Amino acid sequence: MACPSGQITAVRGAGAHYPAASAGTRGLGNRGIVMGMPLSEKKLIQQIRRMAGGGESVRTGIGDDCAVLRVPPGHDLLVTTDFTIEKVHFRRDWHRPELVGQRCLTRGLSDIAAMGGKPQAAFLSLAVPSDLPQTWVDRFLKGLLELAEEFKLPLAGGDTAQSAGGIQADIVLVGSVPRGKAVLRSGAKPGERIYVTGELGGSAAALARLRQSKPVRAEYFRRFPGYFSGHYRPQARVAVGQRLRQRGVASAMIDLSDGLSTDLEHICQESHVGAEIEAEAIPRAQAGGGKKRVALEFALHGGDDYELLFTSAAAVPAQVAGVRVTRIGRTTRSTGMRLVGADGRAQPLLAGGWEHFKGNG
Ligand SMILES: [Mg+2]
Repeated sequence: MACPSGQITAVRGAGAHYPAASAGTRGLGNRGIVMGMPLSEKKLIQQIRRMAGGGESVRTGIGDDCAVLRVPPGHDLLVTTDFTIEKVHFRRDWHRPELVGQRCLTRGLSDIAAMGGKPQAAFLSLAVPSDLPQTWVDRFLKGLLELAEEFKLPLAGGDTAQSAGGIQADIVLVGSVPRGKAVLRSGAKPGERIYVTGELGGSAAALARLRQSKPVRAEYFRRFPGYFSGHYRPQARVAVGQRLRQRGVASAMIDLSDGLSTDLEHICQESHVGAEIEAEAIPRAQAGGGKKRVALEFALHGGDDYELLFTSAAAVPAQVAGVRVTRIGRTTRSTGMRLVGADGRAQPLLAGGWEHFKGNG
């Protein structure tokens, strides 16, 4: 992984790579946090510093050229990086900045969860256009840091720059897993059960509604609480991933970022197996407060659910770490994916994953 610059700046229009030695212009001490924020944002700065200092794995965090991380004895390191890009992953007129920050971190957490790992440190690189209101950055960081705190996850470094285009955030997460125990995509065998956590399709259904409407107000979300929780507050299944790994029941695992059909195909290709999915078994998100469920297409192909998809030779309980787990099919020796309808007839299932806001700029 690239060496973290160890600087977090939240300054509007900041140039890249402020040297750590030049920090402290706001009297922020020797941690090297460069802040050009108005003094009224002092609380937020203090919050970042508090988060930056914590974590048993971080020996030296923000304020040096690199972060120094301590690897737990007998563990492998996990590293994952995910972009969050304006007009690709979010739109400013659709998504509140706090939720963009939360989802940015969730993308990384979910990848660590999919390996059965424990998140240890986060690194954030943020490029923002010069005309972006300061409050947007403040609220983005607030959302991200509040979620980090929930997971006791330290922010150990990062960078900022001015963007010539829209907002771009890149989150790097470092995690750990007992040596040789990471749950890979390549471990599935023919004849195993296929499971998913939670419910699928809520995110995609919410986006479909947003596409049809004008800018969305709070009342909308109250009408569609299922959409709200599905799309805007995805839950990284870190505890579920760890439990499955500890019990040794998951032979292969992936998180659902691009959609069930696309992510299942990744497991099939890496494991050299096929898959048969029962359409009726797929747990679909609620379309609101009532009993209505989202369309099957959303559950099959919609992205941004951040649930876990895994295979197992053993029967898995209906709940793991307090989260619903549903069997949706089985792996097969013959390659390719098939979808079995309520009438028992099978048809080919093609990966039709999420294309974010393509064509909707
Ligand atoms: Mg992933």
